[in-house]
Amino acid sequence: MSFASLGLSAPILQAVAEQDYDTPTAIQAQAIPEVLNARDVMAAAQTGTGKTAAFVLPILELLSKGQAAKSNQVRALVLTPTRELAAQINDSVSTYGKHLPLRTAVVFGGVKINPQMMKLRKGVDILIATPGRLLDLYSKNAVKFSQLQILVLDEADRMLDMGFINDIQRVLKVLPQQRQNLMFSATFSDQIRKLAKGLVHNPVEISVDPRITTVETVEHWICPVDKKQKPALLAQLIIDNDWQQVLVFVRTRIGANRLTRHLETRGINATAIHGNKSQAVRTKALADFKKGSIQVLVATDIAARGLDIEQLPQVVNFDLPHVPEDYIHRIGRTGRAGLSGQAISLVSADEFKQLSEIERLIKQLLPRKLIAGFEPGHNLPESKLDRRPFKLKKPKKPGKTGQRAKKNPVAHKPQKNRKPRRKPTGH
Ligand code: AMP
Repeated sequence: MSFASLGLSAPILQAVAEQDYDTPTAIQAQAIPEVLNARDVMAAAQTGTGKTAAFVLPILELLSKGQAAKSNQVRALVLTPTRELAAQINDSVSTYGKHLPLRTAVVFGGVKINPQMMKLRKGVDILIATPGRLLDLYSKNAVKFSQLQILVLDEADRMLDMGFINDIQRVLKVLPQQRQNLMFSATFSDQIRKLAKGLVHNPVEISVDPRITTVETVEHWICPVDKKQKPALLAQLIIDNDWQQVLVFVRTRIGANRLTRHLETRGINATAIHGNKSQAVRTKALADFKKGSIQVLVATDIAARGLDIEQLPQVVNFDLPHVPEDYIHRIGRTGRAGLSGQAISLVSADEFKQLSEIERLIKQLLPRKLIAGFEPGHNLPESKLDRRPFKLKKPKKPGKTGQRAKKNPVAHKPQKNRKPRRKPTGH
């Protein structure tokens, strides 16, 4: 199958060809014709499947035909949970839309609102936004939706996890009823389906991989090690294997800072990204990492969510995630779109329960490798595969979600803990 056969026109096909994409990925092949047919879509797809182009390409196609956005108006709105993901989608829109005369903008919290208001003044065809900042802009009359044709909810599961449900509902209330809706989520829990009910109409359901499984091109294994030895082991692995570009996941921002300092003492060029760092610092760190001037990027889950770093060869879980699904999101950063990658988890005896949950979720035991000089004193018990089907956790109660969001703060705080907003005006 070719991109041309999907019904995309020359300026878009040219941009796709310039990216050296030969064939559409599964999600693209299924979603693009449906979106072009003006259908609502509910798609289960993880990052790394090519899902961004699956909605961006047909949206560009549809918007290239209609009337340009008028002052302060938006024709397609993409809601995303984090500013990094928003910036990344914006890059994709610019890349795929570079031969089209469409205007795009990205808005998120943590940076000045005025330049965003200026940008919106002329109207934008595609706006990528995190929910809270969008509502702020709406309450200032900086953005209007009477021309809105298409809404995309990206990473809907993560949005709910991060406590954005109220913000999303508020946004939905101010959008025109008549619109096309596209919803993307790695998983489709009951809570996501509930949200979808009030959102998508008679949707085409697409699932490129309905079960949660690990990306096949990733070779993943674990290193049993004592907790205290983890920083030294990581430094040694990086030095011995001459890893040039490593994304390291840690659970807490304090842990991220501490590990970064340790790596630096070993002469390894490392930077941490987490919610406590300013937007400018995070953006720069990511750009430096992408272009190879930072060797090791140490990140918390939320800071790293959805990051698209091309051809990332190496992912390390310095701590195992508490939520087993996050293991898949994390290793999804490597081996993307057919490239091979390696994911290594440093696992201490106290993480045995998390390890077992992950193995149950991915339905396989992770191979173990001991590294000479780092054999653990605290034994990591042998795992046995628990073959009971993995039940995705019930959606968290608001209080709990709040705690999690607090642990991994992002610049834009979920709406729920704030005072109710002034009722938006101007609609
Ligand atoms: P996503 O799942 O949207 O985060 O995309 C994952 C990666 O796949 C990105 O680096 C894209 O540039 C790449 N990609 C998207 N579509 C294709 C394609 N048809 N062929 C090859 N790579 C692709």
